[in-house]
Amino acid sequence: MSSTQYTKKIALVDCNSFYVSCERLFNPKIRKKPVVVLSNNDGCIISRSNEAKALGIKMGEPYFKAKDIIVKNNVNVFSSNYSLYGDLSRRVMRTLKRFNSEIEVYSIDEAFLDLSNFKDQDVEKVGKEIRETVLQWTGIPTSIGIAKTKTLSKVANHIA
Ligand SMILES: [Mg+2]
Repeated sequence: MSSTQYTKKIALVDCNSFYVSCERLFNPKIRKKPVVVLSNNDGCIISRSNEAKALGIKMGEPYFKAKDIIVKNNVNVFSSNYSLYGDLSRRVMRTLKRFNSEIEVYSIDEAFLDLSNFKDQDVEKVGKEIRETVLQWTGIPTSIGIAKTKTLSKVANHIA
Protein backbone atom coordinates (compact mmCIF):
# COMPACT_ATOMS: atom_id res chain seq x y z
CA MET A 1 0.00 0.00 0.00
CA SER A 2 1.39 3.42 -0.86
CA SER A 3 0.42 6.45 1.18
CA THR A 4 0.92 10.11 0.45
CA GLN A 5 3.97 11.47 2.26
CA TYR A 6 5.31 14.95 2.77
CA THR A 7 8.81 14.55 4.18
CA LYS A 8 11.41 17.34 4.26
CA LYS A 9 12.81 17.97 0.77
CA ILE A 10 15.31 20.71 -0.04
CA ALA A 11 16.32 21.39 -3.64
CA LEU A 12 19.48 23.16 -4.71
CA VAL A 13 19.04 24.71 -8.13
CA ASP A 14 22.37 25.51 -9.77
CA CYS A 15 22.72 27.24 -13.15
CA ASN A 16 25.08 25.31 -15.44
CA SER A 17 28.24 27.24 -16.43
CA PHE A 18 26.24 30.34 -15.54
CA TYR A 19 28.33 33.18 -17.02
CA VAL A 20 28.94 31.18 -20.19
CA SER A 21 25.21 30.40 -20.43
CA CYS A 22 24.44 34.13 -20.11
CA GLU A 23 26.88 35.01 -22.92
CA ARG A 24 25.41 32.26 -25.12
CA LEU A 25 21.93 33.77 -24.88
CA PHE A 26 23.15 36.69 -26.95
CA ASN A 27 25.60 34.78 -29.14
CA PRO A 28 23.83 31.76 -30.66
CA LYS A 29 26.97 31.05 -32.72
CA ILE A 30 28.89 29.97 -29.61
CA ARG A 31 26.23 27.48 -28.40
CA LYS A 32 28.18 24.28 -29.09
CA LYS A 33 31.64 25.85 -29.02
CA PRO A 34 34.26 26.09 -26.27
CA VAL A 35 33.73 29.29 -24.27
CA VAL A 36 35.37 30.82 -21.20
CA VAL A 37 34.62 33.96 -19.20
CA LEU A 38 37.43 35.88 -17.48
CA SER A 39 37.43 37.67 -14.12
CA ASN A 40 37.17 41.46 -13.76
CA ASN A 41 40.71 42.33 -14.79
CA ASP A 42 40.74 39.50 -17.37
CA GLY A 43 43.18 37.68 -15.10
CA CYS A 44 41.54 34.32 -14.43
CA ILE A 45 39.06 31.89 -15.94
CA ILE A 46 35.86 31.97 -13.88
CA SER A 47 33.36 30.14 -16.10
CA ARG A 48 33.83 27.37 -18.67
CA SER A 49 31.53 25.64 -21.12
CA ASN A 50 31.62 21.82 -21.12
CA GLU A 51 33.61 22.01 -24.36
CA ALA A 52 36.22 24.21 -22.64
CA LYS A 53 36.33 21.83 -19.65
CA ALA A 54 36.94 18.94 -22.05
CA LEU A 55 40.02 20.76 -23.39
CA GLY A 56 41.50 20.65 -19.89
CA ILE A 57 41.03 24.34 -19.05
CA LYS A 58 40.85 24.61 -15.25
CA MET A 59 38.53 26.71 -13.10
CA GLY A 60 40.34 29.74 -11.66
CA GLU A 61 43.34 29.23 -13.91
CA PRO A 62 45.19 32.42 -14.90
CA TYR A 63 44.48 33.36 -18.51
CA PHE A 64 48.16 33.33 -19.51
CA LYS A 65 48.47 29.72 -18.39
CA ALA A 66 45.56 28.58 -20.58
CA LYS A 67 46.37 30.87 -23.49
CA ASP A 68 48.07 28.22 -25.64
CA ILE A 69 45.09 25.85 -25.41
CA ILE A 70 42.70 28.76 -25.97
CA VAL A 71 44.41 30.01 -29.13
CA LYS A 72 45.02 26.53 -30.57
CA ASN A 73 41.38 25.49 -30.12
CA ASN A 74 39.69 28.78 -31.04
CA VAL A 75 38.11 29.04 -27.60
CA ASN A 76 35.73 32.02 -27.39
CA VAL A 77 36.86 34.35 -24.61
CA PHE A 78 34.63 36.91 -22.86
CA SER A 79 35.34 39.59 -20.27
CA SER A 80 32.83 39.33 -17.43
CA ASN A 81 29.69 41.43 -17.68
CA TYR A 82 28.23 41.48 -14.16
CA SER A 83 25.27 43.71 -14.95
CA LEU A 84 24.14 41.12 -17.50
CA TYR A 85 24.73 38.21 -15.10
CA GLY A 86 22.97 40.03 -12.26
CA ASP A 87 19.98 40.75 -14.44
CA LEU A 88 19.67 37.14 -15.61
CA SER A 89 20.22 35.88 -12.06
CA ARG A 90 17.26 37.94 -10.86
CA ARG A 91 15.16 36.52 -13.68
CA VAL A 92 16.10 32.95 -12.70
CA MET A 93 15.33 33.63 -9.01
CA ARG A 94 11.98 35.22 -9.87
CA THR A 95 11.08 32.13 -11.89
CA LEU A 96 12.04 29.85 -8.98
CA LYS A 97 9.76 31.82 -6.65
CA ARG A 98 6.85 30.52 -8.68
CA PHE A 99 7.46 27.10 -7.09
CA ASN A 100 8.04 28.38 -3.55
CA SER A 101 7.86 32.06 -2.66
CA GLU A 102 10.49 31.61 0.06
CA ILE A 103 13.64 30.73 -1.81
CA GLU A 104 17.08 31.20 -0.29
CA VAL A 105 19.45 32.77 -2.79
CA TYR A 106 22.80 31.14 -2.07
CA SER A 107 24.95 32.75 -4.75
CA ILE A 108 24.48 34.53 -8.08
CA ASP A 109 23.62 31.19 -9.74
CA GLU A 110 22.37 28.96 -6.90
CA ALA A 111 19.27 28.89 -4.71
CA PHE A 112 17.73 26.56 -2.15
CA LEU A 113 14.03 25.79 -2.42
CA ASP A 114 11.99 23.96 0.18
CA LEU A 115 9.84 21.50 -1.75
CA SER A 116 8.38 19.83 1.36
CA ASN A 117 4.91 21.05 0.40
CA PHE A 118 5.01 18.74 -2.63
CA LYS A 119 4.23 15.05 -2.23
CA ASP A 120 7.32 12.83 -2.00
CA GLN A 121 6.29 10.83 -5.04
CA ASP A 122 5.88 14.03 -7.11
CA VAL A 123 9.23 15.59 -6.30
CA GLU A 124 11.17 14.23 -9.28
CA LYS A 125 8.48 15.49 -11.62
CA VAL A 126 8.56 18.90 -9.88
CA GLY A 127 12.34 19.06 -10.28
CA LYS A 128 12.00 18.38 -13.98
CA GLU A 129 9.28 21.03 -14.27
CA ILE A 130 11.50 23.59 -12.49
CA ARG A 131 14.37 22.97 -14.91
CA GLU A 132 12.08 23.18 -17.94
CA THR A 133 10.38 26.36 -16.71
CA VAL A 134 13.67 28.14 -15.93
CA LEU A 135 15.05 27.15 -19.34
CA GLN A 136 11.91 28.27 -21.14
CA TRP A 137 11.52 31.62 -19.32
CA THR A 138 15.17 32.65 -19.02
CA GLY A 139 17.14 30.48 -21.47
CA ILE A 140 19.46 29.32 -18.65
CA PRO A 141 20.07 25.55 -18.17
CA THR A 142 20.15 24.30 -14.57
CA SER A 143 20.89 21.21 -12.48
CA ILE A 144 18.87 20.27 -9.42
CA GLY A 145 19.83 18.18 -6.41
CA ILE A 146 17.07 17.20 -3.98
CA ALA A 147 17.68 15.84 -0.48
CA LYS A 148 16.59 16.09 3.16
CA THR A 149 19.03 18.88 4.08
CA LYS A 150 20.80 21.77 2.34
CA THR A 151 24.20 20.09 2.65
CA LEU A 152 22.92 16.86 1.14
CA SER A 153 21.13 18.68 -1.68
CA LYS A 154 24.43 20.33 -2.59
CA VAL A 155 26.05 16.88 -2.74
CA ALA A 156 23.12 15.54 -4.78
CA ASN A 157 23.50 18.44 -7.19
CA HIS A 158 27.13 17.62 -7.85
CA ILE A 159 26.22 14.02 -8.57
CA ALA A 160 23.37 15.10 -10.88
MG1 LIG B 1 26.66 26.95 -11.35
